[in-house]
Amino acid sequence: MSWFRRRRGDEAQQSSEPVPVPEVSPEPVAAPVMAAAAGAAAAGAPVAVAAVEPVAVESQAASELEALESTSAVATLERPATETLSDPAPVEAAGVLPVPEGGLAEPATPYLPGDGMGAPMRPVRPGRLIGEVVVDLGFADRAAVEEAVNVARSQRKPTGQVLVEQGVLRQDQLARVVAERFGLDYVDLSTHELDMGAVNLLNAEAIKRYQAVPVGFMEDGALLLAMADPTNILTIDDIAMITNRRVRAAAASAEDVTLLATRLGRMQASIEDIVEDEQEADAADNIAEEADQDAPIIKLVHSIIAQAVQQGASDIHVNPEEGDMRVLFRIDGVLFPAATIRRKMAVGMVSRIKIMADLDISERRVPQDGRLALTVEGRRIDIRVVTLPLVHGEGAVMRILDKGVVVQNLESLGMQAEEEQRFAHAIGRPHGAVLVTGPTGSGKSTTLYAAVNVLNDGARSILTIEDPVESRIVGVKQMQVATKAGVTFETGLRSMLRADPDVIMVGEIRDRETAHIAVEAALTGHLVLSTLHTRDAPSALSRLIDMGIEPFLVSSSVDCVVAQRLVRMLCPHCKRPANLPETVLEEYGLAGIQPYEAVGCSRCGSSGYRGRVGLYEVMTVSEEIRAQILAHASVDEITATAVAQGMRRLHDDGLEKVRAGQTSIAEVERMTTSLV
Ligand SMILES: [Zn+2]
Repeated sequence: MSWFRRRRGDEAQQSSEPVPVPEVSPEPVAAPVMAAAAGAAAAGAPVAVAAVEPVAVESQAASELEALESTSAVATLERPATETLSDPAPVEAAGVLPVPEGGLAEPATPYLPGDGMGAPMRPVRPGRLIGEVVVDLGFADRAAVEEAVNVARSQRKPTGQVLVEQGVLRQDQLARVVAERFGLDYVDLSTHELDMGAVNLLNAEAIKRYQAVPVGFMEDGALLLAMADPTNILTIDDIAMITNRRVRAAAASAEDVTLLATRLGRMQASIEDIVEDEQEADAADNIAEEADQDAPIIKLVHSIIAQAVQQGASDIHVNPEEGDMRVLFRIDGVLFPAATIRRKMAVGMVSRIKIMADLDISERRVPQDGRLALTVEGRRIDIRVVTLPLVHGEGAVMRILDKGVVVQNLESLGMQAEEEQRFAHAIGRPHGAVLVTGPTGSGKSTTLYAAVNVLNDGARSILTIEDPVESRIVGVKQMQVATKAGVTFETGLRSMLRADPDVIMVGEIRDRETAHIAVEAALTGHLVLSTLHTRDAPSALSRLIDMGIEPFLVSSSVDCVVAQRLVRMLCPHCKRPANLPETVLEEYGLAGIQPYEAVGCSRCGSSGYRGRVGLYEVMTVSEEIRAQILAHASVDEITATAVAQGMRRLHDDGLEKVRAGQTSIAEVERMTTSLV
């Protein structure tokens, strides 16, 4: 079944770690997203927007269940707190359940734990009771079920409810039982990947009221609806009407539905915020281009940005593809599919992003750069936008510059005690250069900001030149690169030196001129903090020499180099002991240690990881190393000296974090073997 979306973590698993989940479909098939309806539904409007394909309101699952509903037999379907259920006792006694010819559903789907979705294991047999299904599925023994049936009878409660109350069944097991009993799909909301396009078809209030969440689309365009009570025909009809779609009901744990409804409510509330913000801004600017028909697209763009911010994404990629347009989020350094936008909406969406970023919407053939700002949950979010003319149309990448989250203390960087001490010692000196190296997105700026934060005691004059200023720090004079206006790292740095600084932070050393001025500044009584793109700490020295800086200048100016990477931390809720042969553990120097591996649960968005921690390699430039630089020693020779003097390599710091149960071997391998 191609509508299964891949488990989130799969795309991240490029390394040697075996993926515990079977790959079901090679590509997640883009489900058509009715984005317009999403906006309309969120706005509380009845539906019916131009982009919605007219679909006859016909509830497939509903008609299947109608036969059941019309008989008292449906009462064997125990769902606590649902108005469609009547007294179950007489039905169980009767033991009769009429089923339409051919059963209730196509029992074609295998049970797929990775997608959190499955069809019933066997065809529906007439007359099976809930209790029987519980026993068949091995959730409880016959005695416990019989006892519950008796209690249910005497208290006139549904058997399922009693089984849950007595702790015999969990909510999710009950949902499995209901699905099995009525031949419906079961959706595990803790692992099922939500299609936000489907979710947005209902507003949070409706989701709460109906105890039902649209979670995706079927191949035929029907809406897959996860329901606490999948037999509730009224709900199915209502939602078919609201969404103008056929509905396929699936069973889900009542607990999960409630949790999800609450989460979505919070999210949609925050979207309202930014919409209001936007309207105010527009009113102020007196822009009249906000025609009514754009409203769904505005809502869609806003909801995608709000979702990205709430999931802690650093970038939003809007990729036009041959058919539809895909939206991906980069979360903890890894790209995840977030939504699929229909072709018709795609152009409007990119145009909307361009309007927000003050770009020329008529120009689609050249890349453009811009910025926009929004308020999400009361936080101002700045976004840098780059548009790209791609073969399948214009795409966009938005980098979320979430101010106020970057500045940390040294302690919260995740350095081990020795590394932190070396780094603190280096930045505590009144002059010299301290460099941070690593690929883009390795957290270099966070480390520099932490250093600036330590030094920002009011007694020092601190100047920075950055591209862009990622975080504003009170008491620090921050300058932004503006190439068009002639402010580059080089010119900015030159002017800063005339402004009586004690500490200079240069966002990045990219060219010989900047390198030269930075080195000179470090040698003339300033503390210089900057970044370079090199794969490890010792390479930074040779990089400077390659840029044309004399070895004697490098040797005398650089005091400390930090190489770093960010690795994802294992989700504490679902990580499990990795089953590795002792020989492998020995190879990693982890003999006798129990490493953990990623699994995936609802709390970590099925990725198995949550948050990131830095890996650090901190090299103090000792007298021996200074002599080696002067003697044109190789990177390998310098590395050997540094290691002999106590430098922990990046990979080894990673294994320390595996040892501490913070991350997996796979993740450390992924991040430390990648090239800069
Ligand atoms: Zn988890």
